[in-house]
Amino acid sequence: EYVILNGDLIERSEAKVDIEDRGYQFGDGVYEVIRVYNGKMFTADEHLERLLESGRKIELDIPYSVGQLKQMLAEMIKRNNLELGIVYMQFSRGTSPRNHAYPGADVAPVLTAYTRETSRPVESMRNGVKAILIEDIRWLRCDIKSLNLLGNIMAKQKAAQSGCFEAIQHRGDTVTEGSSSNIAIVKDGTLYTHPATNLILNGITRRKINEICRENGVALEESAFTKDDLLDADEVFMSSTSAEITPITEIEGKPIGNGSSGPITNKLQNLFEEAIEKECGS
Ligand code: PMP
Repeated sequence: EYVILNGDLIERSEAKVDIEDRGYQFGDGVYEVIRVYNGKMFTADEHLERLLESGRKIELDIPYSVGQLKQMLAEMIKRNNLELGIVYMQFSRGTSPRNHAYPGADVAPVLTAYTRETSRPVESMRNGVKAILIEDIRWLRCDIKSLNLLGNIMAKQKAAQSGCFEAIQHRGDTVTEGSSSNIAIVKDGTLYTHPATNLILNGITRRKINEICRENGVALEESAFTKDDLLDADEVFMSSTSAEITPITEIEGKPIGNGSSGPITNKLQNLFEEAIEKECGS
């Protein structure tokens, strides 16, 4: 199995990073996860543009273009014979003696990437999952896809301990996003999703869904909604690269709507499936 270390495709067992890598010590870096269907990356441009943008937001200079990154990843996918799964890619700010302030321009970022085989979450996409509600204790730059995920993993762990799949975070009354997903609700035929501000990661799946809504006459409002709106919604779903569109059918032990996946969620799932087929179909 091959991985990427700083532009080179090498055996995984040969890939080593330094103990003073800033990603390891400070969580100082940015990352992306891209799905692979039929051996082809889905929405790769969008993901890689966002990666470069996350880098710019923390003044981490990524010395590659989207095209170069895409080509590197495509080679790794091919070499590993990956048909269905994900690629993970991250840039840390590099290796230098531990010091909070950034190192000088002579220190290059460290790039690592690997592939993983994973199936699509067919069962949960059909039957839905349970979620808990949890206060969003993260920082105020959730728009950056940073390696610092403590707030997210603590929320996810709480969900797991409660026998749930996702933790839906809220700041006071306002619902922000899941621990590793965006959240949308449907009420009286309109889809509501938190606007793309500093309080959420603007998911690539979320953007695709919004585009699908606009093109297919599904009423869409990118406006914040409350915990009460959430619990009172007709349909709720989470979206992410790995979960795609997964219905949330129970929150804090209470069923959403009639407790099963709803018609708008199903419609969006079908249209999303078409988008995958269009871009990655064999
Ligand atoms: N919000 C957070 C906090 C996430 O970790 C993710 C998953 N990367 C998302 C939203 C969804 O983003 P995407 O659709 O680009 O995977």
